[in-house]
Amino acid sequence: MKKITPLLFVFLCFPTLLSTHLTAQSSSTQDAPKLLVGIIVDQMRYDYLTRFYNDFGEGGFKRLLNEGFHFKNNHYNYLPTDTAPGHASIFTGTPPAVHGIIGNSWFDKIQNKKVYCASDDTVQPVGTTSSAGKMSPSRLLTTTITDELKIATQRRAKVIGIALKDRSAIFPAGHAADAAYWFRGKDEGNWISSTYYMNELPQWVEDFNALRNVESYMNQVWDTYYDITRYSQSDVDDAPYELLFQGTEQSVFPYDLAQLRKQNDNYDLIRYTPFGNNLTTDFAIAALEGEQLGQDSITDFITISYSSPDYIGHHFGSHSKEVHDNYIRLDKEIERLLNFLDQYIGVNQYTLFLTSDHGVLHTPGFLQKSKIPSGFFDYQKLTDFLNEKLMQTYGTPHLIANISKDQIFLNHQQLQTLELPSQQVENTLASFLLEYPLIEQVFTRNQLFYRNFEKGMGYLIQNGFHQKRSGDILFTLAPGYISTWYQPGGTAHGSGYTYDTHVPLLFFGQGIKPGFTYQKSEIIDIAPTVSALMGISFPSGCTGSVLTELFE
Ligand code: ZN
Ligand code: ZN
Repeated sequence: MKKITPLLFVFLCFPTLLSTHLTAQSSSTQDAPKLLVGIIVDQMRYDYLTRFYNDFGEGGFKRLLNEGFHFKNNHYNYLPTDTAPGHASIFTGTPPAVHGIIGNSWFDKIQNKKVYCASDDTVQPVGTTSSAGKMSPSRLLTTTITDELKIATQRRAKVIGIALKDRSAIFPAGHAADAAYWFRGKDEGNWISSTYYMNELPQWVEDFNALRNVESYMNQVWDTYYDITRYSQSDVDDAPYELLFQGTEQSVFPYDLAQLRKQNDNYDLIRYTPFGNNLTTDFAIAALEGEQLGQDSITDFITISYSSPDYIGHHFGSHSKEVHDNYIRLDKEIERLLNFLDQYIGVNQYTLFLTSDHGVLHTPGFLQKSKIPSGFFDYQKLTDFLNEKLMQTYGTPHLIANISKDQIFLNHQQLQTLELPSQQVENTLASFLLEYPLIEQVFTRNQLFYRNFEKGMGYLIQNGFHQKRSGDILFTLAPGYISTWYQPGGTAHGSGYTYDTHVPLLFFGQGIKPGFTYQKSEIIDIAPTVSALMGISFPSGCTGSVLTELFE
């Protein structure tokens, strides 16, 4: 028999001593935070941090800026700069070319119809009977950092995704999540999920829905947080290029929700007000407590996407008093969340990042006042023009299956019948497009197949181009132009111009040193940086780089 050394004898008799010792050692060498918090503010331009800086308190955005690491030159590296691709790219560390989420919805060539990024007919709604619950991450092709955390911990890490918008809860949470929760408006006003994650809502979600926080917000009047005369960093309140709520004649404060809700989709109205952020924070705090996140030695991950800034931004525009007020109020919500995390997890015991899924164009009417080229583009007129040109050239107008999101999908069946080589039709259409006013650049499938674009619009287009899912001809509009759909008021995003690509990126908390850089970073760098921070595998399709500047 082997001789037992005195030290081994101690551990054999007191096994807990050994395990405590190992836990302490591994956590001190790996230094894993108890909780990771990924915050996405939907439609947050970089300059909101600087424009509204003097209106922020000390405990919200300013605290992240002063105590965290700030990447001041952080951009999307693809287009379209839309919500679903944005959330997917942040968490997969790769653009749509790889993760496959090429839009909020897109024309599916096989099904020959438009599909929504997160819809899934194989799952059932949970917490509602509406099809709003039939959602899952099934179209997401690669893993997320949240997936990798699940795998690295034998599924012991808890991963929860939260947002008013389904896609903004689902893609950050990944495939392996414990849950993603999103908001069902209309006449319900509840947080819901799908059978992809669970068969029924956990008790804490049932309890939260039963509390009816949403009801108290729906009885509020949205007025400016401070006296409106203090809001010097925004345009006039009654600008003609803002969108109106149903039943109002002017887009001016105050907004009485109780009065407006009936004509504005009832509970969905909350999305268009800062109270949507309050409700999101309330629910995130309920999730942290209900799931006991960050309460043991295994790192958990919560993703919180604030959707209301996007609804408010589209509706009123980036220079509106409404957007200005929303950011003053969102700052208070960030502060409330940080204070809760300090108390519940512990100061410097969690690591947090904050970014956005895209920026936005200033409202065309607002830009025109400064003589900046901006306006609207009529996609129907373009479709008519192209069909007419195709008729003249090939004797048929049926060569286009679909035009959406600045992509043309050819009708390949028709091309085969007419024995037309697709490359020839691509080139012909490209020349027609370049004749057309306000179309700036055109790229064909063949170009994207055989060339490697390293910068400029070609680089952005190629990163957004998924070989199986994307269209055959892709084009960009001139800077400052958006669809005529927004002509009644409001604005949009989706382009590869800096107003859409430049977004904040802040890291804060355990393992992060304070500082900032003007070095360019790309949105796909977030996931590998978080992987490196935790010492876990990079997401499967990751093409980003680790941002080493921020490590302590
Ligand atoms: Zn968005
Ligand atoms: Zn949007």
